[in-house]
Amino acid sequence: MNVDLVVVGAGFFGLTVAERCANELGLRVVVIDKRDHIGGNAYSSVEPETGIEVHRYGAHLFHTSNKVVWDYVNTFTSFTDYRHRVYTTHKGEVFPLPINLGTINQFFHSAYSPTEARALISEQAAEGAVATVANLEDKAVALIGRPLYEAFIRDYTAKQWQTDPRELPAEVISRLPVRYNYDNRYFSDTYEGLPVDGYTAWIERMADHPNIEVRLSTDFFDLDQEINIRDTVGTVPVVYTGPVDRYFDYSEGPLSWRTLDFEEEVVQTGDYQGTPVMNYADTDVEYTRIHEFKHFHPERDYPADKTVIMREYSRFAEDADEPYYPVNTAVDRERLLRYRERIAEQPNVIFGGRLGTYQYLDMHMAIGAALSTFENKLRPLFATDAPA
Ligand code: FAD
Ligand code: UDP
Repeated sequence: MNVDLVVVGAGFFGLTVAERCANELGLRVVVIDKRDHIGGNAYSSVEPETGIEVHRYGAHLFHTSNKVVWDYVNTFTSFTDYRHRVYTTHKGEVFPLPINLGTINQFFHSAYSPTEARALISEQAAEGAVATVANLEDKAVALIGRPLYEAFIRDYTAKQWQTDPRELPAEVISRLPVRYNYDNRYFSDTYEGLPVDGYTAWIERMADHPNIEVRLSTDFFDLDQEINIRDTVGTVPVVYTGPVDRYFDYSEGPLSWRTLDFEEEVVQTGDYQGTPVMNYADTDVEYTRIHEFKHFHPERDYPADKTVIMREYSRFAEDADEPYYPVNTAVDRERLLRYRERIAEQPNVIFGGRLGTYQYLDMHMAIGAALSTFENKLRPLFATDAPA
């Protein structure tokens, strides 16, 4: 094969690497993906009856505080001024998220000032305090106290992860801010927005280069292909963004993942829930949240009498399922360390992205990591004067 670099996976990590190598270094890059589309989990397409853009693997909201990433992504697309806000339903009542003064006052039927609310929550947090914060439950109780934890976090988290919150790492909850004012923006980043003409247009522009060849429906591990891509390992460098355990034939044991099931429905009403995302905090509702896609783009001319909703259900991934979220139990972390030792024995393969590093990465993190991989590993590797 007449190529300089093989990239496995056409998600944001793989495409950023491919784009940089083609544009900056003039390399010939083949990008393969086992799916029949590019974009990885950020892929979106138009629902035909309504014309509404649907994020096929769950709602994707772009946000970052990294100026380098923001400038980079803006070379492919402009962004709307969308600001993400989420509400949650608990015992038949709707509350704003992330937990803020509005949530606290509504929950306690009170009118606390920021100082009073802080005092109350720190008193409640002190009641459940433990010497060492070892897991998600400890961390959440330390942040918001037990009553708010039990209402908004405990059952939602159990539904989402199907794992006792005492066995989940504390970092999972650290993604959610707690605010003592009425600011209910979900993200605290400097830059935020949605791609003006959709994720797929953005992603296609990244791959649009004469030196980039994309081969879809091509599995790296499928040995019956016309050209066995796997044979290229050893002849050209490979950037691999598939699951790390799969690469090594699960030699150190499988890593656990959470997957999602999406139930999409076209509803004959102009507005189903009045907001893009409604979470369901309680166990009596089986799904974790409902997305209503038209609300992501109020600036678009979408039909006034129809809408698309998607109910999201969460469960452990089995063999044939898409791996979405690393569960990261203590056993997983131990296995990951052993896989990292095996990665170190593969000098010709660079492991990247969410699946390749078994890390929860937002889009801006995957893109940022790919830009660093390009500068720190690939550019030196291909520099003509690189040491042998
Ligand atoms: P991926 O997008 O997963 O791409 C990896 C690609 O590799 C896939 O296309 C896969 O088909 C391919 N592949 C795997 N194995 C093989 C193989 N053997 N052969 C060939 N190809 C293979 N981020 C945000 O910033 N904001 C959000 O709101 C947000 N919401 C999310 C919601 C969900 C449900 C999920 C799952 C993720 C969300 N993310 C969000 C994260 C975002 O999807 C990732 O940051 C981004 O997709 C990472 O890109 P990646 O290239 O690492 O991985
Ligand atoms: N979370 C919760 N209740 C909510 C929203 C979030 O308990 O209503 C917890 C849950 O453990 C979740 C974590 O906070 O896994 C991170 O939330 P986020 O919205 O970032 O999850 P994601 O969108 O990545 O699924």
